[in-house]
Amino acid sequence: MNSEKTERKRQDELQAVTRMIEIYCRGKHSHTGSLCKDCQELMNYAHSRIQNCPFMKTKTFCSNCKVHCYSPDMRIKIKEVMKFSGPRIMLYHPIMCIKHVLTSLSAKFKKYGGL
Ligand SMILES: [Zn+2]
Repeated sequence: MNSEKTERKRQDELQAVTRMIEIYCRGKHSHTGSLCKDCQELMNYAHSRIQNCPFMKTKTFCSNCKVHCYSPDMRIKIKEVMKFSGPRIMLYHPIMCIKHVLTSLSAKFKKYGGL
């Protein structure tokens, strides 16, 4: 995978995590417009993990890998966010989900040497 594609994947992932935290904060903490302090902190953390992820080239989008490099307390928080926002993000952002599926699929095909 070339670096341009890797960069696009990184941007997609940043956008996805931002949306998920926004949905979570709005739904769980009744915050609109901006994020509450906790969620802002989580988002800054998640962004820094994604920016520094050494596996961005090889991993599939939304893989568990990203959760493993989180500190234990942040891992608990992001899991909550994923559980809450995961099903909802399909309603708000169907295009993002289609992209996710395509990314996962093409990674799978590559793994088996096809396409
Ligand atoms: Zn919040």
